[in-house]
Amino acid sequence: MVPPSRPRKLAKVPFVELADGRLQGVVSSGSDIERVYVSSVAAGTFAYACSTNNNRPCGGARGSFCNHIRALVTEAVLQYGAGRVARTLKVETADGEPTAQELIAEMTADRPAPDGAKPAASVFSRFLRHLAYLELEPVTTPLPEMQWFPPARAAA
Ligand SMILES: [Zn+2]
Repeated sequence: MVPPSRPRKLAKVPFVELADGRLQGVVSSGSDIERVYVSSVAAGTFAYACSTNNNRPCGGARGSFCNHIRALVTEAVLQYGAGRVARTLKVETADGEPTAQELIAEMTADRPAPDGAKPAASVFSRFLRHLAYLELEPVTTPLPEMQWFPPARAAA
């Protein structure tokens, strides 16, 4: 794990990575604490995908990036820096560090297509392995990565 270049909102985007030719990660639902979205953008084509961890398609990701994908890009810029995100995704930008908004504007300018590969299942399993790895760390401080988990419910 690379330390984030700036503090991130882990409760909103508990997992982000540049892997498999994509920016991909897990984004908390803005409205439902028990739901998370698995979002991704492919390098070069900017083909995008967003669905719940139960494989329900995201209603916002029709025709363009939904708010989850936008949040993922924003958090990736905080985690990796805009230059590395732009290079990995092959986003052509003007000189200097682009903002997350500029990256999103550039990637959506040519109306990218939905990602036919549907990488959600593999991304979500990597997220769960990431959490398992965190559990091995001998820390006594709260783990912000765990914030998205809803409180356990009593068995009915
Ligand atoms: Zn979405």
